[in-house]
Amino acid sequence: MLTLQSYAKINWTLEILGRRPDGYHELRTILQTVDLADTLHFSLLDHDISVHCDHPDVPTDERNLVWKAASLLRETAGIDRGVSIEIVKRIPTAAGLGGGSSNAAVTLLALLQLWQLDLPLRQLFSLASRLGADVPFFLVGGTCLGVGRGDEIYPLAGIEVSHLLLVNAGILVPTREVYASLPPELTKPEATVKMPLSLELAHEAVSARLNSVRTGAQEGSGHDEGAVPWRAGLLRNDLEIPVLPRYPELAQVRRQLVELGATDSLMSGSGSTVFAIFDNDQTRQEAAATLRGSGWWAEPVRTVGRSEYRSRFSALHRDADHHR
Ligand code: ATP
Repeated sequence: MLTLQSYAKINWTLEILGRRPDGYHELRTILQTVDLADTLHFSLLDHDISVHCDHPDVPTDERNLVWKAASLLRETAGIDRGVSIEIVKRIPTAAGLGGGSSNAAVTLLALLQLWQLDLPLRQLFSLASRLGADVPFFLVGGTCLGVGRGDEIYPLAGIEVSHLLLVNAGILVPTREVYASLPPELTKPEATVKMPLSLELAHEAVSARLNSVRTGAQEGSGHDEGAVPWRAGLLRNDLEIPVLPRYPELAQVRRQLVELGATDSLMSGSGSTVFAIFDNDQTRQEAAATLRGSGWWAEPVRTVGRSEYRSRFSALHRDADHHR
């Protein structure tokens, strides 16, 4: 039996650069692993792929991403081995935290070891990207830039934040609907020529903002919605443009987090989870207690850097940074 943690992600930034000829959107996103994790138990079987999960909303048949990962790997390697995978879910599902994608990436890495396969990294990344746009990121972890569909991953210097809070108001925001209702200026084909800008500059700016002690922020927080500083800042998620007006409760979560002392807050991915940054643990824990009192799910987390992320797979991850 092999047991591995499968971490969640947030997006520090998510920009839609345009619509591509293949119908996908061209993204530029800075992704980050955080220490909220599912637990995956793997045990070898002769031939079958069998999936169990303690969460009622997660399918355990061939629709499950870990099932798809195992099946695709087996087919690619041309072998007839089996595995039983038990998922203990802690990451809220369909919540913009990448839970399914993370599970799929961890499954690929675990099965390389259990089935004793030696797949070239380039091929591993290509399998991951076929499973889903967020899956390649979870082969690398830490702070990464994602471009293309978000599946072309470039490791960046780590952004470290100790006092994060994830909040989910239990609203289901269908990813497809979000992308379908983007404003036309974000989906012009010519917008893709905006790439590339200075990525290092963008990263430096985000990281400086996250690490700085915000001086003027406190006057700006509170009840004046117009003064909430996140829009002026570098944390940015273009998917909020269609989502917040349609789901006012999410905008309320964002506002309330700032009222409760967060220095910034942003929706993660296509939602509906919002993350917030706090200066200290006490304010964060008080905010978590208040939000839970409103019936919302609130989980304090911290960032997980790449070396910690990869220490789970030290034997497997030989050279994932240099896969390209
Ligand atoms: P995305 O933004 O790509 O939709 P997400 O992070 O918002 O991802 P996930 O938790 O990955 O959402 O789940 C999306 C859907 O995928 C769920 O509704 C669930 O039915 C299905 N699913 C398949 N496999 C898994 C898995 N292993 N864990 C969670 N959900 C899974």
